[in-house]
Amino acid sequence: MHLSPATTAVTAGRPPRVQGGPVNPPVVLSSTYVSQGVPGPELLYTRSGTETWTPFEQALGRLEGASNPAIVFGSGMAAIAAALSLVPTAGGARGRGGVLVVPRHAYQVSLGYADDLAARHGVEVRRVDIADTGQVVAALDGADVALLESPTNPMLEVADLPALLAAARERGVRTVVDNTFATPLGQNPLALGADVVLHSVTKYLAGHSDVVLGACVTNDPELDATLRSYRTLHGAIAGPFEVWLALRGLRTLHLRVERAQANAAVLAERLAGHAAVAEVRHPSLPTDPGHERAATQMRGFGAIIGLRPVGGVAAADAVVAALDLWVPATSLGGVESTLERRRRFTTESPTVPEDLLRLSVGVEDVEDLWADLDGALRSVL
Ligand SMILES: *Cc1c(COP(=O)(O)O)cnc(C)c1O
Repeated sequence: MHLSPATTAVTAGRPPRVQGGPVNPPVVLSSTYVSQGVPGPELLYTRSGTETWTPFEQALGRLEGASNPAIVFGSGMAAIAAALSLVPTAGGARGRGGVLVVPRHAYQVSLGYADDLAARHGVEVRRVDIADTGQVVAALDGADVALLESPTNPMLEVADLPALLAAARERGVRTVVDNTFATPLGQNPLALGADVVLHSVTKYLAGHSDVVLGACVTNDPELDATLRSYRTLHGAIAGPFEVWLALRGLRTLHLRVERAQANAAVLAERLAGHAAVAEVRHPSLPTDPGHERAATQMRGFGAIIGLRPVGGVAAADAVVAALDLWVPATSLGGVESTLERRRRFTTESPTVPEDLLRLSVGVEDVEDLWADLDGALRSVL
């Protein structure tokens, strides 16, 4: 039976229906399993697999439309490190390191990881404007792996994913798509030919700002085995209880994302007409550079807004300080609305405007969110 993503989020990964059986999977806290003789496919040791991962992995795999279950990691960065292990490093068969294409604006720690691959492993990193399809396709020539993000963190640029994934495939370039911002409800890059899709599960999938987790998912059985083996070798595993919490959060993914997206679209439209706002970015706005593409290739426009108040950095910091309801904090995708000025991190890309506020819109009442935001913006005019 073909189920809609909402139904999958609620039903996937449940235990078998047996009289007196639990409705939810149990959390199993055991580092090891009874085992003697030649080890078989059964559970052996928790670093290589535990039954508490499986329901979450099955549910996320189904939501991404994948033929394999997802592979859960101890953080989004652990998932990124695993996926980027597909880039050849110096000293391998070819001698020099491979070529990795990354967006010039992307999750800053992913870019930091790419820089580390360049500095320590001889990898050539090509930074591109992901919205400029011609530029990205030119950079794919001779590349080994492309890390794509769309919409990008924090600039909300939208890549032409169907075109880029097709161009990469023609050139034999492996593609890794960070789908954290869009969520599996917004787009499923595996269906467009991506090799690996990954998530910071910390964000929308878990959704309550109470766990740090990541996941990769692929349709390719060989890649699946490579990524699982990477997890076992490097040991960046998730704790069973955290994964159980993520599955619990995933049950309401559709409700949270629908509400947060609707809130974000209302706020973006009102911000666009606000006297204290110099620029607002949200793909829902018909004037947004990413609108057309997002409207064609995504279901929904996401719940992250980019906002530059009139008055520069001082005004941006003053807005953050003047808010009561919105929480000043990094991270995103929780039920509560948060915001931060991204360039407060010295590691953020220098082409991200210094006064850019990244708003993660939550599921509160939109009028309450607006009253708080409007009041803070007026206070700095
Ligand atoms: C947060 C984030 C990550 C990193 O995930 P962690 O769970 O914090 O390790 C990767 N990509 C994007 C787009 C993110 O927002």
